[in-house]
Amino acid sequence: MPNPPRIVVLGRQGAGKGTQCARLAAYLGVPHLSTGDLFRTAVRDGTPVGVQVAGYLERGELVPDELVVGIVQEHAAAEGLDDRGYLLDGFPRTIAQAELFLGSDGKGVDVAVELDVPVDVVVERIARRRVCPVDGWTTIVDDPSVAAVPCPDGHDAVQREDDTPEAVRRRLALYERETGPLGPWFAQRGLLERVDGVGDPDEVFDRILGALRARGLLSAA
Ligand code: ADP
Repeated sequence: MPNPPRIVVLGRQGAGKGTQCARLAAYLGVPHLSTGDLFRTAVRDGTPVGVQVAGYLERGELVPDELVVGIVQEHAAAEGLDDRGYLLDGFPRTIAQAELFLGSDGKGVDVAVELDVPVDVVVERIARRRVCPVDGWTTIVDDPSVAAVPCPDGHDAVQREDDTPEAVRRRLALYERETGPLGPWFAQRGLLERVDGVGDPDEVFDRILGALRARGLLSAA
């Protein structure tokens, strides 16, 4: 592998971005940056960033572009992502964010992988999603009436505060309007790989690896 890959993972809420990024990060040895996780940790810890973004998260609204891009740029510089490659999960989420962070030609990234999962499937997944508020560990419970399940570290994984049906509907609508156009934006720049995100997480992972391999972003193995 010549350079560590720089990958954007797109997909609506519940498409499996976090799950697949965690696997990819381990497989590729590339840092995973989830803006949602970054913001939730900042809110929980009451940092200045947390104070700035808390209201947007609560309402299920997007954090303003300049604010998000500034935070991501700062994080990228502090973590040396220029040299280490990256997996961006939940960012960029608007064309303005993409143009500010990746450049209008998209040259700041090697590929955008779009996980394709229909709305009815993600709504059903989110109703059953339980997330550990401490470490972000995520699982899908069989029975949606189960409120909490223990994560491997012994904390309780629960429903995210913004996973109420009303907030989910708002975020999905926002996704179609603000983030949907990023698919064509990356496609026009020859950077888009669409991957079927329905099915077993192992199968989806293999599909993603296939797409990365086809682009020469994996070593031959
Ligand atoms: P979801 O994809 O289910 O909305 P995330 O964990 O990705 O969940 O994000 C949670 C919240 O964080 C979003 O609803 C939004 O308020 C904020 N957020 C995350 N990433 C961005 C971004 N790139 N631009 C604007 N807001 C963001």
